[in-house]
Amino acid sequence: MTHELVAQAESVLAPLERDLHLAWWDVQVEATDANAARRASAELAWSEALADPDLFRAVEEVQAKAPTRSLDLLCNLMLPHQVPSDLRARIVELDAAVDVRFSRHRGVVDGVEVDDSAIKKTLRQSDDSAERRAAWEASKTVGAAVADDVRELARLRNEAARSLGHRDWFALSLAKDELDEAKLLATLAATDRATAEPFRRWKARLDERLAQRLGCSVCDLRPWHYADPFFQEVPPDGAIDLDGYFEGADLVALAGRTLEGVGLEVDDIIARSDLYAREGKSQHAFCVDIDRAGDVRVLANLVPTHDSAETMLHELGHGVYELGFGDDLPWLQRSTHLVATEGSALFFGALAGTRRWLELVLGLEADEAAALRDRLREARAVELAVFTRWVLVMTEFERGLYATPDGDLDTLWWELVARHQGVTPPDGRKAPDWAAKVHIAVAPVYYHTYLYGSLVALQLKDALDAAVGSIVDQPAVGAFLREHLFAPGQSVRWDELVEQATGTPLSVASLDREMTVLATP
Ligand SMILES: [Zn+2]
Repeated sequence: MTHELVAQAESVLAPLERDLHLAWWDVQVEATDANAARRASAELAWSEALADPDLFRAVEEVQAKAPTRSLDLLCNLMLPHQVPSDLRARIVELDAAVDVRFSRHRGVVDGVEVDDSAIKKTLRQSDDSAERRAAWEASKTVGAAVADDVRELARLRNEAARSLGHRDWFALSLAKDELDEAKLLATLAATDRATAEPFRRWKARLDERLAQRLGCSVCDLRPWHYADPFFQEVPPDGAIDLDGYFEGADLVALAGRTLEGVGLEVDDIIARSDLYAREGKSQHAFCVDIDRAGDVRVLANLVPTHDSAETMLHELGHGVYELGFGDDLPWLQRSTHLVATEGSALFFGALAGTRRWLELVLGLEADEAAALRDRLREARAVELAVFTRWVLVMTEFERGLYATPDGDLDTLWWELVARHQGVTPPDGRKAPDWAAKVHIAVAPVYYHTYLYGSLVALQLKDALDAAVGSIVDQPAVGAFLREHLFAPGQSVRWDELVEQATGTPLSVASLDREMTVLATP
């Protein structure tokens, strides 16, 4: 009975998902109207199949009597599509409308429209506080334009979540991703403790440099003095610039060589991929598993820089995972949990910033690579600290947004920014600056998975250091990952999988250790 129901659902869903992925790939590669239309209709067919109320009822009934892993996964896949169709349509429409307004909106400085990259350039380069402030304020005008709609989206999403028996959209999002809310809050608190002091020390030094450069005192620093609109990235002078080493580098060959060195095959992925910029092509990077049966592709826009090298390794980190599912896994289990696959991707991406990779794969002289060692470790720690503090803001804010969409969100936002990022709010400002972050509108309740993924990546590295000794050019690394992380697919829950693969439940111990390089003044 169970087996038949699952087999029946798989036979319907597998071809629809494959059509959807192919249509999606085609429109990313070439954004023609015909491709966009094909994608939209494939999307509709897929979501209609998942909305099937008879199938969902049957799945729930059988699962109550004889639960299986495949039924769990099928339930989670179908659950968000069980929202009444008129409500679902309103959410999709408003979501899309807000998304378009984000793409079209431009801030204005001195009567001239400025895009995101112009704003970022000013925040990176200008030494003039007034000019910086104008650029920063321009970056927030989109927030005022969309805030009412984002609050409305939160209300509608809550209504949908409640119709499915959940407290609010935050709770539903966690439940369908098999994430426990109490554990999430405990993990956030632990990452807060691990990073608060190292971040504070590093930022105190940054603030002194900024005050000196801008000719003011540290207590005069405001959000527009940092190098991006949300202080979510490491400013240029806190990072290490490796781009000089990548001039003329063949990133595809380097990435292929990296994976081959750890015993993982990627020729097939590379052959199917679309890796360089072209007119009409998506400017992002992603990896897609078209059919859960070996057709795995990467889309990227590579240029010879360190960032691009990291991106290529990151996407291949997703790809090798998807090629590594055990042969006997059923379709529903031939997939990855977001946290686990991000863990693999971040693990491989980070290699491009390690001394051994720069020496053994990129070909730096040994003494030159050795000389970079401490700065690479510090840059890595700073990156993790800045990123973690930002995720704390985002996640706690979103929890508050869905708890009270009509609450005083402007005040909540600046309280969180002040507490976690140590940034002094602008004096007397009353504006929905939170709504200027596109993820809050169109990628809701997602940010915490990046943080979990980064913890998994750190934990994998520690487990491999202990089991193999090092990473680069060690075929045992691929064998380890294939056996412990990739092969099980989703036959076990992500948290059990992480524990099995790394030997410990998800924790902040590895993050704590990375922070030690920032502990000394
Ligand atoms: Zn990724």
